[in-house]
Amino acid sequence: MKLLSVVVPCYNEHESLPVFYKEITAVAKQMNYVDFEFIFVDDGSRDNTLSIAKELHKNDKRVRYISFSRNFGKEAGMLAGLQAAKGDYVAIMDADLQDPPSLLPEMYKTINSGEYDCAATRRTTRKGEPPIRSFFARMFYKIINKMSDADIVDGARDFRLMRRKMVDAILSMGEYNRFSKGIFGWVGFKTKWIEYVNVERVAGETKWSFWKLFKYSIEGIVAFSTTPLYMSSIMGFIICLAAFIMACFYAIKALVFGDPTAGFPSLVCIILFLGGIQLIGIGVVGMYLSKTYLETKKRPVFIVKETEDDE
Ligand code: UDP
Ligand code: MG
Repeated sequence: MKLLSVVVPCYNEHESLPVFYKEITAVAKQMNYVDFEFIFVDDGSRDNTLSIAKELHKNDKRVRYISFSRNFGKEAGMLAGLQAAKGDYVAIMDADLQDPPSLLPEMYKTINSGEYDCAATRRTTRKGEPPIRSFFARMFYKIINKMSDADIVDGARDFRLMRRKMVDAILSMGEYNRFSKGIFGWVGFKTKWIEYVNVERVAGETKWSFWKLFKYSIEGIVAFSTTPLYMSSIMGFIICLAAFIMACFYAIKALVFGDPTAGFPSLVCIILFLGGIQLIGIGVVGMYLSKTYLETKKRPVFIVKETEDDE
């Protein structure tokens, strides 16, 4: 029988985890044609998430857990889970049941038929989300898809079922700044998109503030596109051209009409404008530099404190 690993990054999910476990085991029972393992990655939770995972492991040997030494973020959690997964197929799921386990049988069928390497999910609505957040999310997807060659789908969740080949491809990407939505698209493989209506989390609350999401989106762009670097050069070129045209215009005007140019306000505006553009340019270079700096340090993406093997 094939083995299906379910990777679940958990951060402060002690309310959701038991519910999730109940739902996923029900689905696992229904899918008796495949073996399961559940890998709960405790991302440095401050609540009882770890002890719940330990308890589940005690009663059900299919449950494995990995606990981090501190909070490293969902990206690190997913990486740790994918590294630990032994399955022929690997699924990534949130602990809050926003990724309905009931979709798993359909996803399994999709990739087991051999036609697809991955079954991924995408939510068609953003119900229950502040409209301003949806607006910025849409903008982000538009921008990043223009800028990068990784295909990043609007509304795509991290919830997906992949073949071992694809998991290995993802693990072969050794970058420190991991942006999974980009990595999934970048590695390619044939993906089937399964759509569903957004579900709200069962318990607890989202760990993403608007500011965190904003930073995450900038990181995504920096990780998967170098277009902003070109843009500052292009902008510089355009401004030079404009300056040249303006210089010609004023020179001719002075020659023909001979009127002295009163220039103080326009001068201030131009100086401020150029100063701003220069700072933006330096900032863009700085963002890439800082990411490069972090990459060269080769720090581990996460540090494991304990796993079920320690028992
Ligand atoms: N998560 C994590 N580490 C973090 C933040 C979140 O492992 O630092 C997990 C969280 O427990 C959940 C999943 O990532 O299983 C998605 O988080 P959340 O539901 O807060 O995000 P949203 O669904 O609102 O995008
Ligand atoms: Mg959620």
